[in-house]
Amino acid sequence: MMDKPREECGVLGLWSPEPLPVAELLQLGLFALQHRGQEAAGICVSNGKDLVIEKDLGLVSQVFDETRMQRLRIQGANLGIGHTRYSTTGSNLRFNAQPLSVRSSKGILAIAHNGNFVNALQIRQQLLEHGAVFQTTNDTEVMINLIARYARLSLVEATARAMRELKGGFSVVLMDRQTVLALRDGNGVRPLVIGRLENGGWVFASETPALALMGARFVRDVRPGELVWVESGELCSMQVLEPRPTPCAFEWIYFARADATLDGIATHPARIRMGEVLAQEAPAEADLVVPVPDSGIGAAIGYSRASGIPLDYGLHKNPYTGRTFIQPTQEMRDLKVRLKLAATPVVAGRRVVLVDDSIVRGTTSGRIVQLLREAGAAEVHVRISSPPIKFPCYYGIDTAARKELVASTHSVEEIRQLIGADSLAFLSESGVRQAIGGPVCLACFNGQYPAGQPEEEVRKEALEQA
Ligand code: SF4
Repeated sequence: MMDKPREECGVLGLWSPEPLPVAELLQLGLFALQHRGQEAAGICVSNGKDLVIEKDLGLVSQVFDETRMQRLRIQGANLGIGHTRYSTTGSNLRFNAQPLSVRSSKGILAIAHNGNFVNALQIRQQLLEHGAVFQTTNDTEVMINLIARYARLSLVEATARAMRELKGGFSVVLMDRQTVLALRDGNGVRPLVIGRLENGGWVFASETPALALMGARFVRDVRPGELVWVESGELCSMQVLEPRPTPCAFEWIYFARADATLDGIATHPARIRMGEVLAQEAPAEADLVVPVPDSGIGAAIGYSRASGIPLDYGLHKNPYTGRTFIQPTQEMRDLKVRLKLAATPVVAGRRVVLVDDSIVRGTTSGRIVQLLREAGAAEVHVRISSPPIKFPCYYGIDTAARKELVASTHSVEEIRQLIGADSLAFLSESGVRQAIGGPVCLACFNGQYPAGQPEEEVRKEALEQA
């Protein structure tokens, strides 16, 4: 819930052999990707001749009002891309909303991107020296400018060339007036799946729930380092980069929807396994297991199953508060947690295992422990289904600035004291690997960045600014 790492973006692409209500389908898909970015949303549609983009700050339901949807309903539309955004690079300004578009020798191109390029600043500098003009402050524009620069190459070849030059963790969809392309970095850090519509059309999406909502059947994941595109109705593929799969562990720990399956691994069962391993690694003498809603539910089920301690509804979440912007006094911050959560009477007199998926700053965890104690909990044992977050993410997740990460400056015992718990334990790195069951990026826990990291000065600057 609150005080969580934040996903940067969700992306979506659609191509159909015949006209479809493309704008409506993309809007539906974006609803299923809303959790991946709540600050801005955008849709681009084309009918082979015209290309229209509508985007703005706000939730999908706010941005796509009837006026905007009307503008997107162009005659004969058969392809488009969509985006939900939470900004980690480029500030939260309207012109940073995506899809971004450029006019180039290849005609008009539009792009939507999830993740970060760790060498974006260097490439941006090179492009500026060659006369490129940038309209935004986000690094997505770097990719589209790179593609546009290779005037003599086809769109597919130019995109493959840009993939070879860019480093980092990213999933991208892009389009011209005729086709849609989708790609994933060599480590497959950010997810991207392929679906098929009944009419033979193709859908690309950050997560599988978007496919289901759009009426598409899951076909497969885009492979790490793969570029796919639609040509004469067929899905074409080029393995541009050597695949070295290390997808983001946080997708399974927290980000991806509970009904999603990424790289063949379903998220909710993986969360249950994390809870089971956590119960083996860090047992507790207790009467009840209570999840922090909604983020701790899967792991709490697993913890309860493995420990035999019953799961109960110890915290109620008020679903109607939406995004609150109450800031910044101490009392008001407390109120922010109380607005969203309340302890139920089942915790009175009981020893509670409180399960959540992660701790970022630690402030929210402390307030939840306090809520349980006020409701009469006899003991509160906090169990976290991921290791302590100690390092920043350079692949599109806002883990907060390093100095704000409580685990980068405090030991587990110090965090326990800070949050006022009777005991505190985190899942181990090997526990995460065991629960997910495949190779994963764990860089925010161990500082080992599988897809590279920004050069020293850029990194220092980012850390200082953060
Ligand atoms: S550093 Fe952490 S949040 Fe970022 S991609 Fe790796 S596992 Fe995910």
